[in-house]
Amino acid sequence: MRCTHCKTRLKAVFRPPPECPACGRSLRNEQGLDVRELDRDFDTLKTELHETALRRIKKSAIVILVLGLLNSAGAAIPIVNVPLIIVIVIAHFFCSRFLVCAPYAKHFGFTRRVVTRWLSRMFVLFMAGFHTGGVVPVVAPLVSPVVYLATAGTVWWYHRFHLEREHRREPVTILEKLFLIVAVLLVLALFALLMIFSTSIAELMRPATDGG
Ligand SMILES: [Zn+2]
Repeated sequence: MRCTHCKTRLKAVFRPPPECPACGRSLRNEQGLDVRELDRDFDTLKTELHETALRRIKKSAIVILVLGLLNSAGAAIPIVNVPLIIVIVIAHFFCSRFLVCAPYAKHFGFTRRVVTRWLSRMFVLFMAGFHTGGVVPVVAPLVSPVVYLATAGTVWWYHRFHLEREHRREPVTILEKLFLIVAVLLVLALFALLMIFSTSIAELMRPATDGG
């Protein structure tokens, strides 16, 4: 946590102190609410974040296009005949979550940061599967940049939506909370099923080894 005025690191976890110990300026507004970077010059901050994200998405799409081309050409060129799909999936994650979401999430409060992080992670993970869809020869190299652009575009829109909400001090939506709870329950249920399945497999194996 840093002072919104002078950027000095503050020794606080959840809430900044009323005044900055370094510059002495107030970190609370008239209503006693925390003064955030968002409250100072929101339009400039929003424009800066917008331009950074747009620039990064364009560059990332080119990188992923090149990787996609190399991946498709791999079979024809023996030297680069390595499956680049893992590299593409890692780039897909890095270029969506780290380059696009992170600069926005830095301005979010704790709950919003956690909710948006997990929802965007799940979405990026879900979309990553589509990179393997390049089976049609001619369009194959275009699959990855298209999948990336769809992913980055969506998480970008999602984070811009929440930047506006954070600015207006509106909480995350009920729908997002519900979705996250359902997702957690599903993962737990899957895990439980897997445990039951592996135990029953172990049970089935036992008489066979005893008999043999
Ligand atoms: Zn300060």
